[in-house]
Amino acid sequence: MVTKRVMDHRVGFVVGKGTTSFTVDSVEPGLPGSRAGLKPGDVIVEVDGVPIHEEADYNRAANRFRRGRRSTFIVERGGERIPLAIRPGTPFFTALDALGLLTILAYLILGLAALAWGESDPRSWLLFLFSAAVALELSLPGDLIGINWAPFATGIAIYILNGFQIGVELHLASMIPTPRRYLVRHPWIVPMFYIAGILLGLGPALVMCLHRAGIRDLPVTVEATDMFFSNVVFPVWAITITAILFTGVRQARSPRERSQALLVLFGVLPWAIYTILLTLWTWGGGTVPALVTWLQPFVLLIYPVAVFIAIFRYQLFDIEVVVRKGLIYGTLTGLMLLLFYAAIGAGGALVSKLLGEVSSVWVFSGATLILGLLASPLHRWVQQAIDRKVFPERHQLRNRLVTLSNELPALGKLPAMGRHVVSELQRTFAARNVTLLLADPATGIMGELASTDNEATDFSHSLLLAPDDPGLTALRKSKRPTPVRQLVAISAGLAQRAALHDAVLVVPLLVGDRLVGLLFLGPRESDESYGSEELELLSLFAQNAATVFENVRLFQSATFEGLTGLYRREAILERLKHELERAFRYHRPLTIGMADLDHFKRINDQHGHLAGDALLKRIAEEIKRCLRTSDAVGRYGGEEFLLVLPETDLAGAWAAAEKVRSSIAALEVLVAPGVTVSATVSIGLAELDLDAAPGEATIYDLIRIADENLLKAKRTGRNRIVPPLPEG
Ligand code: GH3
Ligand code: MG
Ligand code: MG
Repeated sequence: MVTKRVMDHRVGFVVGKGTTSFTVDSVEPGLPGSRAGLKPGDVIVEVDGVPIHEEADYNRAANRFRRGRRSTFIVERGGERIPLAIRPGTPFFTALDALGLLTILAYLILGLAALAWGESDPRSWLLFLFSAAVALELSLPGDLIGINWAPFATGIAIYILNGFQIGVELHLASMIPTPRRYLVRHPWIVPMFYIAGILLGLGPALVMCLHRAGIRDLPVTVEATDMFFSNVVFPVWAITITAILFTGVRQARSPRERSQALLVLFGVLPWAIYTILLTLWTWGGGTVPALVTWLQPFVLLIYPVAVFIAIFRYQLFDIEVVVRKGLIYGTLTGLMLLLFYAAIGAGGALVSKLLGEVSSVWVFSGATLILGLLASPLHRWVQQAIDRKVFPERHQLRNRLVTLSNELPALGKLPAMGRHVVSELQRTFAARNVTLLLADPATGIMGELASTDNEATDFSHSLLLAPDDPGLTALRKSKRPTPVRQLVAISAGLAQRAALHDAVLVVPLLVGDRLVGLLFLGPRESDESYGSEELELLSLFAQNAATVFENVRLFQSATFEGLTGLYRREAILERLKHELERAFRYHRPLTIGMADLDHFKRINDQHGHLAGDALLKRIAEEIKRCLRTSDAVGRYGGEEFLLVLPETDLAGAWAAAEKVRSSIAALEVLVAPGVTVSATVSIGLAELDLDAAPGEATIYDLIRIADENLLKAKRTGRNRIVPPLPEG
C-alpha cells in the first residue's frame, strides 16, 4: 500500500540537498503545494505545529497527513513567516503520473520488441537491456513519505542501474552501425565498459551505505558524491556516447551504414545536449525547475527509438532517404536562417520588438524554411555539398550513371552498347547479374540484347515478351523501377523471364509513353536491397539510356535492313557513291558484284516463305563473313545482294566472289525439324574504269555491267561468277 499512502501524503515539492535548513528546491506544478502558493526557496519551519529541522521531522509530521484534510505549513520567505494552508494528497492518477507510466511502457515495449524482432542481432539484446534498465529506474518509487528506508533503497538502486546503463550504452553505441575496429581487435574492452559503469555507480552507493551505517567522518559527503554523479559523470557519459557514435559515422563503409550511425547520433543528441545544459545550469548556480527534470525520460527516449529504427530499418522505411533528406533540409534551414539574420540585422531587431522575441523567432524560422525549400538552386547546391561530404558514394553513383549514359553513343552499335550497360551496371551496383531487353521496333516484342548471365542466353531467346503483356503494361504506367515480387502476380511471362535471370528488380526503359526496353537486375552481392535513392538514380539512367537506344535504332532502321541486317538499297548505293569518289580521287581500284540466288522461287514454293526468309538471313550472314570489314554489302532486291569491294581489282574481286559462292553452296540451313534447305548463287562482277570521266552516271554504268554479267552467269548454268577468273 506504499503508493496509496504516498499519494495521500503528497504535497509536491523537492527539498534542496546540501542545505542545513529544510529549503524547498522546486515545486511540482499542479500539485497541492504549488496550488497553495509554495515557492522554491521557501524554508519550511513548521508543519501542523511540529518544528521542522531535517527530513526526519518532516516525515514524522507527514505521517499524520490525511487526504483532503488541511495542514498548516509555516514557511520563511524573505525574512517573513508565512502560513500556507495545504491539502496534501493528489488524485491517485494525475496526468503527469499517466505520462510517467506511458514513458515506462514505451521503454518496456521498445526493449521487448527489439528482442522479439532481432534475437540474432546482439544489438537488439543490448537495446533490450538498456530499455529495461531505464524502465526499471523510472518505475522506482521516489521519496516515499513516511517510509524511511525507501529513499535510501531507491538511491542505491538508481546508482547501480545508472552504472549498468553506462556499460550497456557504451557497448551498444560502439556497435552502431557495426562493431568498432578496436572492439574487434581488443574484445576485453567490452567487459571494461561494464566494469567502469558499475564502479561509477557503486561509488556513490557505497558512500550512501556508509553514511547510513553511521560512519560520518568520510572524506566525501553523500551530497558531494551525488553532485559528482549528476554534474560530472552524466555529462562525460553523454559526451562519450556522442563521440563514439560520431566515430561510427566516420567508420561507416556504405551510405546505409552511415545513415544508421547518423540517425542514432541525432537520436542521442537531444539527451546529450539536455544533460550538458542541465549541468551548466546547476554549475551556474541555478535551480532546475521540476518540469525540466520531468522532461528527461522523454528526451532520453529518442535515443533508443533511433537505435531501434536503425537496427530494424528494413521493416520500417528507407532510413537512408530520411537521414539524407533530414540533413539536407536541416542544413538548408540553418543556412537560410543565418543569411536572413545576417541580411536584416538591425531590421530583425525591430521586427522582434514588434512581434515579441519568441514569436519573431518562429516567424523567421517559418519564413526562411519556406524560402529555403523554394530556392531550388540553393537546395541543389546544399544537396550536392552534403552528398559530396557525407555521402560520397551517392555522389559517385550519380556521376557514374551520368557518365555511363554519355559513353553509350560512342560505342556505335546496339550490341556493344548493351554489353557495356549490363557489365557497368553489374559492377556499379555490385549486382549478381544484369540483363537488358530491347523491344523490336516493328512488333514490340521484347528480346534480349545483352546479359552478364551468359548461361541463360541461349534459352532466353525463346522466352519473348509480347507488347500487350500485363506486366509490361503495368511498367509502362508506373514508369518506375519495380521489384519483381510486385510483378509476379500480374504477369506470368515477366515472372518467368525474371526467374530466368534471377532478377529482383525490373527497370522500364521508356521514351515518353513507349516502352523500348527492360533492365533486369539481380540481387546484390551483399544481399542488401536497392535503396529508394538508388532506384531514383536507376530510373534517371534508364530514361537517358532509352533515348540513346531509340536514336541508335532509328538510325539503324534507316540504314540497315530488318531481315538480314545488311545495308538497305539506298544506303549501299550511298556507300558505293562514296567509294567511287574515293577511287577516282586516289586512282585506286574498285570492283562491285551483283549476286542473285539461284531458283530461289522454288525454295519458297517448296518450303514456304518463312523457310526462304530463314535461308536468306543465313546467306546474308555468310556473305558478310566471307568479305573484309572494309567491304560493304547491301540487300539490293529481294534475294539480290550488291557487294562493294574497295581497293580491289577484278582478280581480287573474283577471289572474294568465289569464296562467297562456294560457302553459300556448302551451306545447309535447318528450317524445320529434319528439313534442311540450301541454295546456290550467281554473281556478276564489274570493275571501275578509272580512265572514264567521274560523274553521276558511273554508278549505274557499273551496276549495269554487273547486271549483264549476272545474266550471263544465269544463262550459262548458274552457281558461277562472270567474268570467270582472268588468265594469269
Ligand atoms: P533465278 O534467279 O535463278 O533465275 O531464279 P529465281 O527463282 O531466284 O528468280 P528471281 O531471281 O527472279 O527471284 C525472285 C524470287 O525470289 C521471288 C521470290 O520467291 C524470292 N524472293 C525475293 N525476295 C524474297 C524475300 O525477301 N523472302 C523470300 N522468302 N523470298 C524472296
Ligand atoms: Mg532475283
Ligand atoms: Mg534468283
